[in-house]
Amino acid sequence: MRRPVVMGNWKLNGSKTMVTELLTGLNEELEGVTGVDVAVAPPALYVDLAERLIEAGGNKIILGAQNTDLHNSGAYTGDMSAEMLKDFGATHIIIGHSERREYHNESDEFVAQKFAFLKKNGLKPVFCIGESEAQNEAGETETVCARQIDAVINAHGVEALNDAIIAYEPIWAIGTGKAATADDAQRIHASIRAHIAKKDAAVAEQVIIQYGGSVKPENAASYFAQPDIDGALVGGASLDAKSFAAIAKAAAEAK
Ligand code: PEP
Repeated sequence: MRRPVVMGNWKLNGSKTMVTELLTGLNEELEGVTGVDVAVAPPALYVDLAERLIEAGGNKIILGAQNTDLHNSGAYTGDMSAEMLKDFGATHIIIGHSERREYHNESDEFVAQKFAFLKKNGLKPVFCIGESEAQNEAGETETVCARQIDAVINAHGVEALNDAIIAYEPIWAIGTGKAATADDAQRIHASIRAHIAKKDAAVAEQVIIQYGGSVKPENAASYFAQPDIDGALVGGASLDAKSFAAIAKAAAEAK
């Protein structure tokens, strides 16, 4: 039985006031909600404040982050290490997001290195994969997802996916309001799981596969009703406490 994980990716949004209001609101909204892991990934500068607010709310929320570098210390100006994230209690770290793949030229191999670095440091990768609109229209979705996953499997073995999270995020659905249908998302999630199962059925069975791409309170339940959709990675709707909590509650109720 996979426990759903609903995670908010705040991207480059936040201020001390906004982080305080959002997490205070979430602490209230999530009171008594069970059966779902709820995580947030603030911008790095606000991880410290977020840790304190989450603690003040009784630790109902898991702290995450949006990136890691490949070194824990040294002469790497501007970088931020896994150990530093751990120091502030962050555990769920997003890697391979399409915005980083696109704007920072992160390759499949580089993302796979980050994946292994997080695991080595005892952190949980939230490993984003997904196809572009052109790839989708060309019928290449399953091939693209398999290639992105194989970069991790080929370098680190299929067991590396134990205790990790995969976030399937069709790029054309991110921030566009043009979400994949629940049936289409389920079909791709099943193909991702089947691809991993070819290497190791037990690993495939336990791995959490989130859907991401314009998830809102209005469509969340339709995704969570699908057998291979184990939660969501949420961008825009995670910036509003009521909307994000409604998505988390939908996951808790469906699973
Ligand atoms: C994301 O950026 O991971 C995302 C899914 O964004 P949105 O929910 O806004 O589409």
